Amino acid sequence: MNHVDLMTLGRIVSDERRCFEYLLRQLPDYSCPYCHSPDYYIMSRQRVRCKRCRKDTQPLSETRFSLLKIPCSTWLILLKLFELSISALKAEKEAGISYKTALKGYDIIRHAIVENLAENDELLKGEGEADEAYFGGKRKGKRGRGARNKTIVFGILERGGKVSVSIVQDVSAQSLMTETVKRVRRGSIVYTDRWRGYDSLMFCGYKHLNIDHWYKFKQGKVYINGIEGFWSFAKERLIKHHGISRHKFLYYIKEMEWRYNNRGKDLFEVLVELMLH
Ligand SMILES: [Zn+2]
Repeated sequence: MNHVDLMTLGRIVSDERRCFEYLLRQLPDYSCPYCHSPDYYIMSRQRVRCKRCRKDTQPLSETRFSLLKIPCSTWLILLKLFELSISALKAEKEAGISYKTALKGYDIIRHAIVENLAENDELLKGEGEADEAYFGGKRKGKRGRGARNKTIVFGILERGGKVSVSIVQDVSAQSLMTETVKRVRRGSIVYTDRWRGYDSLMFCGYKHLNIDHWYKFKQGKVYINGIEGFWSFAKERLIKHHGISRHKFLYYIKEMEWRYNNRGKDLFEVLVELMLH
């Protein structure tokens, strides 16, 4: 698949059939559900006709594209707007659809992202940096008191690898350990800041170094700049979505995890693939 820039997308979405053909090209393994022949004619209304048994089928009906009744062209435009981090409110105008439809489309995309992350959920290993961050709420506050009305996100980043985030109720040792055990292979090295909630890591089978050890070891490896970089990445992008409900916040923060882990890739391409599976 080649990079779909705005010019290319403009050409594709100018014609509904071209959109359908474009999506079919991303489904190279499609075969007739009746006779399994891979050869078909492209028909109107998102149908294909099997060259062998002559039966008509709708290849997109089993995909996420069928979850919202909008033309393929509108879907492709929405995916592009989502890739470019355009909010649903602005997407409404750009895609010429209602705000409700834009929001529903974005919800479908975010669900696809969360499911995809869950399917590819591998344990982090090697060296990781663990930390928590506070999102939402007006007051600035430190851990514990002052964190009320904020959503606490626990994150762990494998150095040279991926980040993984989850929402936690509090920053107690128990909550932090539960999340770490779920995400990191035992025996790994985990770097943290001084928060005492992390002190139990060594009892859970990890090598734990907090930034205080830096002085002891006199080496540059004890830092958590990686995960802190992710928090900046996420906060900078989430600032445009004011007042995300608690219920939906998980989807937004998981979107940030996905964006971070796929940075450098062509996200449009990845999104189309997610929608087709
Ligand atoms: Zn057939």
